[in-house]
Amino acid sequence: MIIANWKANGDFESNKVWCSRFIARMSSIGAKSTGIAPSHLHFNHIKSYLKDHDIEIGFQDIDIEGGARTGSISPSMAIDSDCSFCLIGHSERREIFNEDNYIISKKYQMLAKSHIKPVLCIGESLTEFQAGKTEQKLQTQIHECIKGNVSSENLIIAYEPIWAIGTGNTPKPKDVNTIHEFIKDVVQSASENNLRPQVLYGGSVNKSNAADFFVEKNIDGALVGGASLDADMFSDIIEIYSRHIEK
Ligand code: PEP
Repeated sequence: MIIANWKANGDFESNKVWCSRFIARMSSIGAKSTGIAPSHLHFNHIKSYLKDHDIEIGFQDIDIEGGARTGSISPSMAIDSDCSFCLIGHSERREIFNEDNYIISKKYQMLAKSHIKPVLCIGESLTEFQAGKTEQKLQTQIHECIKGNVSSENLIIAYEPIWAIGTGNTPKPKDVNTIHEFIKDVVQSASENNLRPQVLYGGSVNKSNAADFFVEKNIDGALVGGASLDADMFSDIIEIYSRHIEK
């Protein structure tokens, strides 16, 4: 799957332009397993623009409950909006909003009980990468977020090294492939349902490097930030993905 993470970008007018360009490109490419996570404010608007196309629209985050939680979007609101997937644990949520694995595990638990696909983001910092602690960090994140919870059949993991997000620096695709295999093994032994999840790579994916990632056996797609804001660039990435999907 290829997922666009628009973060806090976009407005009603530019989103409309993005969607018409994207629809024009998709009519020749065909959007296989594509998702878009716009802001909550723009969710319905994007959903209605793309309603005749096979594209999943999801949330970038969710709160763990509803009620007296000013500024939050509750799980029941996500269900009511017919949201297809929801990112949880993005490094920006962890760093800027101080979310820890305990909160993220609550989000996972809540999504696992709904029809919404959880897209759990995990990844190491540059210091951890340089110290050779990547696998240790990922294992801790996976265990603390999913172990002991009800398992979701639909869980997707997004491996996003923090040092690769928005920087133009990426790990070597072969190394990412090895890490994804490790992630699949850890999730399989930590989940009740023996699940081997799809694992997406995220961090400075663009049309020039996408093929190098998608050729790898254990890289099942990408979570795309900056490059997804340009409808043509995002369409190019989907086109490259479609060519590699049968690998
Ligand atoms: C992200 O923030 O999830 C991301 C992958 O961003 P970028 O593609 O801009 O590195």
